[in-house]
Amino acid sequence: MLVKFKKAVPIIEKIEKAGFEAYFVGGSVRDYLLNKPIEDVDIATSAFPDEVKQIFPKTIDVGIEHGTVIVVYEGENYEITTFRTEDQYVDFRRPKEVTFIRSLKEDLQRRDFTMNAIAMTKDGELIDPFDGQQDIKNQIIRTVGEPEERFKEDALRMMRGVRFVSQLSFYLEKNTYSAIERLAPLLQHISVERIYMEFMKLLKGKNCSKALDLIAESNLYEFLPGFSEYREQLKKATTYISNRNLNEVEVWALLLILFQNESIEELLRKWKMPVKLIRKIKQIIQAYKNRQNESWSNESIYLTGLDIAIHTEKVFCAINNKEADTSVKKIRQTFVGLPIKNRDELAVNGNDLMKWSDKRGGPWVREALEKIELAVIRGEVMNDKEQIKEWYST
Ligand code: ATP
Ligand code: MG
Repeated sequence: MLVKFKKAVPIIEKIEKAGFEAYFVGGSVRDYLLNKPIEDVDIATSAFPDEVKQIFPKTIDVGIEHGTVIVVYEGENYEITTFRTEDQYVDFRRPKEVTFIRSLKEDLQRRDFTMNAIAMTKDGELIDPFDGQQDIKNQIIRTVGEPEERFKEDALRMMRGVRFVSQLSFYLEKNTYSAIERLAPLLQHISVERIYMEFMKLLKGKNCSKALDLIAESNLYEFLPGFSEYREQLKKATTYISNRNLNEVEVWALLLILFQNESIEELLRKWKMPVKLIRKIKQIIQAYKNRQNESWSNESIYLTGLDIAIHTEKVFCAINNKEADTSVKKIRQTFVGLPIKNRDELAVNGNDLMKWSDKRGGPWVREALEKIELAVIRGEVMNDKEQIKEWYST
């Protein structure tokens, strides 16, 4: 058994000692069976939240109403979730209220896909009522029970399905996929925040191109904020992204470049994307426009910044069917060779300029500094106080 599970075994033992059941469940068991590195181990238990809190001295309430308590054990946090059903679905969304139950089987039954509905005892024994292991072996994503019913209960599961295609390079089972085609419009009932989280995970997956293709093919795209008019562009993007190893920010930039949408900000705000990320994507798109007109120079790399320049180049190469490694390497080398990396590294400042010219401060200082900065970057003058003074006064 993996160390991460082993470290959590005492937690399960304590719960069992108190007279309840507890198992490893969900993504960690799935990823373990796939020989993938696991993130956090999740534990499901027949103990109700209050009962869990009585067993452990240190707990944090995170989602008591959903049955989740965090247990702090030997410096690590573990999510312990009470077995539950989600029987009263309204408006195609996950219900607010859940019913706590004592049966593992029923808890596994409310889970989305067979591969995610496997429990493991502390001894590593698997409880797998829906043949999840078989589906994992065959790389199949299949809903637990009737797909149509399960997607009507919670339409986000359709996005989770394509997200797993991206992360795991699995295939959507035939009926599961055709239910997505039919029920895609139900995505309208899901909050942007939940869609955004799944979509970002999708963009980070190594099979992102295939997953975006499924989104275009299945009509899910129509119900992604701001995407409804861009089916063709989305299809095109999948061909550019394929085998490119672009990260999520780069894929966003690439999509928006293809969409040729006038109001990038507006589109991304619809997704409730953090403003910092919006800014970064806009910077890449702007730099891409410059890159289309001219190749990189010391000056443009300096002004763009290393990080944005590299993202931009990767996107540029993807769209223009060029190999990116060499040109990215060149950008790095150029940046390393720059005499200064930012304005703070300039050997002179505004006070120096005012002293030299015996003038009071004003907008001219900033302008003069910018001029000096560019001259240094272009190699017209060394970044040395005396030399700059001489260059400046001639
Ligand atoms: P990841 O590796 O990204 O965390 P995960 O499978 O653990 O993937 P989570 O969102 O962490 O996904 O959910 C944990 C488990 O809860 C899932 O494995 C699944 O069993 C169940 N689950 C999560 N979301 C849903 C949902 N919308 N409907 C049904 N079951 C769900
Ligand atoms: Mg998880």
